[in-house]
This record gives sequence, structure tokens and C-alpha cells, in this order.
Amino acid sequence: HRTRRSLEGVTTAAGTFDVTAVRADFPILSESVNGEPLVYLDSAATSQKPRVVLDAERSFLEHENAAVHRGAHTLAAEATERFEDARAAVAAFVGADPDSIVWTSGATCALNLVAYAVGNASLGRGAASAVRLSLGDEIVVTEAEHHANLIPWQELAARTGAVLRHIPVHDDGTLDLDAAAEIIGERTKIVTFSHVSNVLGIINPVAELVALAQRVGALTVLDACQSAPHLPLDLPALGVDLAAFSAHKMLGPYGIGALYGRRDVLEALPPVATGGSMVTTVTLERAEFLPAPQKFEAGTQPVSQAIGWAAAVRYLDALGMPAVHEHERVLERRLREGIRGIAGVRLLGDADADRVALCAFDVDGVHAHDVGQVLDARGIAVRVGHHCAQPLHRRFGVTATVRASASVFTTEAEIDAFLDALSGVRAFFG
Ligand code: PLP
Repeated sequence: HRTRRSLEGVTTAAGTFDVTAVRADFPILSESVNGEPLVYLDSAATSQKPRVVLDAERSFLEHENAAVHRGAHTLAAEATERFEDARAAVAAFVGADPDSIVWTSGATCALNLVAYAVGNASLGRGAASAVRLSLGDEIVVTEAEHHANLIPWQELAARTGAVLRHIPVHDDGTLDLDAAAEIIGERTKIVTFSHVSNVLGIINPVAELVALAQRVGALTVLDACQSAPHLPLDLPALGVDLAAFSAHKMLGPYGIGALYGRRDVLEALPPVATGGSMVTTVTLERAEFLPAPQKFEAGTQPVSQAIGWAAAVRYLDALGMPAVHEHERVLERRLREGIRGIAGVRLLGDADADRVALCAFDVDGVHAHDVGQVLDARGIAVRVGHHCAQPLHRRFGVTATVRASASVFTTEAEIDAFLDALSGVRAFFG
């Protein structure tokens, strides 16, 4: 691979995306690792956080912290306002109303919430319109799901007697939509899939899959973890019933994520966790629940994290998601073309589809962990392993791959540094 001179500014319809200015907002980018400047290509696992996010959380805790939705004192009222304002900001970022956003501890929690709520509905809880599963009903996933959007459905199937089916993946990483059209049928009650696979980086055809699901009246659940940080996202326009996404992957804090739901769907589903803050009247025998989203938010919520997350989405909005997407598309092309040009390196699912800047590959004769170590010695952080997608790795005949993933602050020079290091890996191991 030839190291090219980098072009640090990308001109887009939205203007010039100034990656140098963006980088100055991320304190961690001035760290060095093994004596080299940090090249962080592991944003798909967790993103780095800009200073505004760190400051927002700290400032809230220093000046406004109090229990929300309780207490008549001034600080509590202020904290509640900030908390609900954060919900509105995160909701607006995905094109939704605040009432459609339920706070969770992350995307895994949001997907489990749906699976358990459907399980409770199947036991006769919740409104009559809630999705109910019985023996032989079908839940459809894809072969490319993160374990977080697979195992909750396996468990739900086991609890209800439903059958779990999957949409296969072609060799090039795209979903087999002909198979999807056959699999999604009269028995299908739930269709769930990732917007962007955390291994392949391919943007899945949401409209087609939603249409197939709607044709048979199935509930649609979208795992938007890997799209929310990279694409302009309008969940109501995508037509999905429910969606999960996570703050820590989109420049926000750990410990908070969200479940988006269409209002009628959220209203129909029964709660999962119960306790304080989600009720109106409670007697010793029974409790009445608040409407969604509070119905799903039992107990103390991650308040300062919500405020940090709001700062993250405001930061992304200020950059402009179309510009972010365009910046990352340039990186994506450079990354994949560069990898393709290195002998003995195989990309998993190399379709020229719409993509985000994320890809996984294996290196002939070298274990992924060894590749990771060679890169780490050069200060380059990538992820190695199965990336919580064992079935997809099995489908491609590998147990582990190396994954490189970019973010708003990634430069073309960093991609080149990565390609340069990668091109020397096989020689290093003789
Ligand atoms: N879904 C996908 C596609 C992911 O990449 C991840 C993150 O690893 C998750 C779900 C789980 O997200 P969280 O860490 O918020 O539980």
C-alpha cells in the first residue's frame, strides 16, 4: 500500500467538514499509545466523547443535581426540566416525539425490554392489541445480528413456544431478500434486524424489510446502534415499530440507551421492570401504571447520562449528520479499497452497497489477535474477536476477525497509517 498525502477537509453539500477542528474537541485524541499517537479505529465498540459531553455531565452534577420527577424544591424542578429536555433532544435527533423515547441502560437493555414485554403480553398482560406469541408463531431475525438482537429472541421463543427463523446473508454480506420474502409469512409476529451490521458495515434495506413485515402485520424492531452515530436518522419515517440505540456508541456517556416506540405500540406493551416512578395509584394488592414512556422506567434513571447524551446529539447536529455521513463515506471507501489492495487480507462481505466506515477482515495465516497486537504496537486500536456476532462469523467460516471502524474525528491520514501497518503484518509473521 502506498501512503498518500491526506486531504483533511471534505467539501459536502452541507459545507466543509473540518476534521481538524473536530479532533480538537476530543481530549483523548492527544494521548499516545506505545509511544505513537493514538489512532482510534474502534468506535463501533464504543466511541470517544467530546469535551462538551464531559462538561455537560459534570456541570449538571456540580450545579443542578437532584432527584427528578419528585420533590417540590427548586433544584428538583430544574433537574427535571433538564432531564426531560434531554429526552426531547435525543428524540428529535431520531425524528421522534419525546413520548416515544424510553430510557434504558443501553441497546441490549432496550432489546431485552421489548422481548420481555412481548413475553408478558403473551401471558395476557397489557392491552389486547399487544403482540402475543403462542406455539408455532414465528420471530424472524437475520444471520448478521449482534448477540444483543439475537439471544433475547431465542429466550422469548423458548418461553413462548415460538419458532426463531433467520434471513440468510449472501457471500457479499447483503441480506438475501428473496429468502426474506419467503420466510416472512402468515406465522411471523416479529421481524427484527440491525440497520447496520456491526461486523459488515452494510446499511440494510429497512424499507423493503418493513414492507415485508407489514404485509403480514408483524411487529418490526430495528437495532439502530451502528446507524445512529453515522447517518441522518428518522425512525418514524423508516416505519419501524420499535428501535434500540445506545449513547456510548454515538459520542455519549456509558450506561444509557433508548427504546424508541410508536406511541400505540408502547401503550399496548406491558411493563417489564416495576417499582417506583412508573405508577399512579398503588394499593397492597395492585398498581396502576403511568403511560409510556414512564411505564417502562421503574426506579432511578441515568439522569446525568441523559444530559450528557443530549450534549452529544447536539454536537452531532451542529456538525450536521449529512456532513458526518459524507465525511465517513470518504473514509469508508479509502479503508475498503486499501484493504482490498493488500494481499492475503479478506474482507467479510465486500458488497459495494451503502455502508458506514466499518469493516471486518481476516489475514491469511495470522490470528486476529496477533494482527491486533501488531497494530497496537503502532498505536492503532482495532477490535479483534467475533464482535458479539458468532453466527455471522460461522457463516463466513471464521472464528475471529479484525474490525476497523471510524468516527467523526477519524482522518484519511489515520486510515493510511492503519493500511500501512496492516500491509506489513504478514511479513512480520514470516
Ligand atoms: N447492537 C449492535 C449492532 C451493537 O453493535 C451493539 C454494541 O456492541 C449492541 C447492540 C449492544 O449495545 P449496548 O452496548 O448499548 O448494550
